[in-house]
Amino acid sequence: MEEPSSVFIMASSRSEKMFIDGDWVDGSGEETIDVVNPATEEVMASVPKGTREDAKRALDSAARAQKEWAEIPPLKRASFMQRIAQLIRENREELASVLTSEQGKPLFESRAEVDGSAAHFEYFAEFARRIEGDVLPSDNPGQTIMILRLPIGVVAAITPWNFPSAMVARKLAPALITGNSVVVKPSSNTPLSAIEIVKLAERSGIPKGVVNLVTGDGSEAGDELCGNKKTGLVTMTGSTEAGRKIMQRASNQVGKLILELGGKAPFIVWRDADMDWALKCAVWARYWNCGQTCISSERLYLDESIKAKFLGKFVEMSKNLRLGDPKAEGTDLGPMVSKKERETSEGFIELARGEGSKIILGGSTPPMRRGWYLEPTVIDGVHQESPLVQKEIFGPVVPVLEVESFDRAIELANDSDYGLASYVFTKDNNNVMKAMHRIRFGETYINQVGPEQLQGAHTGFRMSGVGAEGSRHGLELYTQLKTCYIDWNDRPGLPYLFPYS
Ligand code: NAD
Repeated sequence: MEEPSSVFIMASSRSEKMFIDGDWVDGSGEETIDVVNPATEEVMASVPKGTREDAKRALDSAARAQKEWAEIPPLKRASFMQRIAQLIRENREELASVLTSEQGKPLFESRAEVDGSAAHFEYFAEFARRIEGDVLPSDNPGQTIMILRLPIGVVAAITPWNFPSAMVARKLAPALITGNSVVVKPSSNTPLSAIEIVKLAERSGIPKGVVNLVTGDGSEAGDELCGNKKTGLVTMTGSTEAGRKIMQRASNQVGKLILELGGKAPFIVWRDADMDWALKCAVWARYWNCGQTCISSERLYLDESIKAKFLGKFVEMSKNLRLGDPKAEGTDLGPMVSKKERETSEGFIELARGEGSKIILGGSTPPMRRGWYLEPTVIDGVHQESPLVQKEIFGPVVPVLEVESFDRAIELANDSDYGLASYVFTKDNNNVMKAMHRIRFGETYINQVGPEQLQGAHTGFRMSGVGAEGSRHGLELYTQLKTCYIDWNDRPGLPYLFPYS
């Protein structure tokens, strides 16, 4: 296991600001939040702890700028977005380095995430000529009905720490192309990647006030953004718990919502699957981003006839993963994002011990001098009712269950409050069709893994969310429908109004 190098540890701490009305500003309060490198436990930066006042100023700025932004033709709006994408690509290495430093994922994953951020701006810029409404015949002569798609207004974009770059791009891009202005509020664990993207947006020459950024906690700055009447849409990615609070808060102004929340993806491997491929996919789907991904495989359902063989190899492959400095080439698994997150995963391991399940791999913190690392952990003999199967485990911990029929696997997969991603490995066409129609999850990956693609609708059933992101379906949620009834008769008048004239 390779430890972070001393150069990495010595990285100097910097002080960042918030971006409001085209200026980089301090918070109205005194307090700041430390950003800590999870591999070294060193403070690498600080950001203002934004107050309600700061959030209100950012919303005011966004509301002012939005009116003119909406008047700019989408093709011109797209040109700013293309420029942001280009700047992201030009600064790929630096952005990936910031991302890994604040979040802990290996550099190869950070590079892929940064590429994804650029791709979001490019993809949504392509919609410039396709923000479409409808033209419909009227029930009456000489009249036309038109349904327009207008901007909503001000969008509050609230993002989590696990994809601190891509989640910002995923919300900014559809909001901007549809003529909205934005206030971004990143997670306090990982605000730096968001700040870097906003700096590039500023460099693109986008009009001031169209993009704003407030740092700070969900309970204050975030709460104000969600419940303020200036906010037209709250788009938040994060935990189900926070999503529920945001729903309540946004009811203040009957705000529109897109919520991408927690997951508990089932990963079903059937007896006829390509085993080597399914194994590789199972390893990736669980350990990617150290298990801290909303579409992570969180419970393995193995056909009883192949379970022993599959599990033996899965454990072997898990054991061989290289844990260490996320900036070193060759590292498979970095640290978890914070001590608190590691403790939550450790709590599940303790629970498994208490329930009498068998920890067949890992279960401890590795012998690193610093950094919030956790060993890949495989737990066999887990029951469907256990919190290990029912609650989200955001770490490299895999509960394993055995199933006797494919129908039963679907039944157990669906037995969850969550409904985001799911995985099925089988070559049987009937099983594939059953999975497509009967697994009640927003995404089913069949004989493959993610991440999700831009043209797919990323969406959740049940407590995994509201609305969708990506695809034209996601884009449309950033627009407000408006219907216009137009009478173009030479002598206007509706026949049924005559009795009153
Ligand atoms: P979190 O819910 O703690 O925080 C997410 C964001 O919401 C942060 O910016 C936080 O400050 C803000 N927030 C929290 N409470 C708030 C409130 N009351 N009002 C306003 N804002 C508030 O989530 P996290 O720990 O940063 O991220 C991990 C979670 O995100 C996991 O549950 C994961 O499954 C989920 N996630 C979901 C998706 C998806 O697409 N469905 C993608 C990534 C992560």
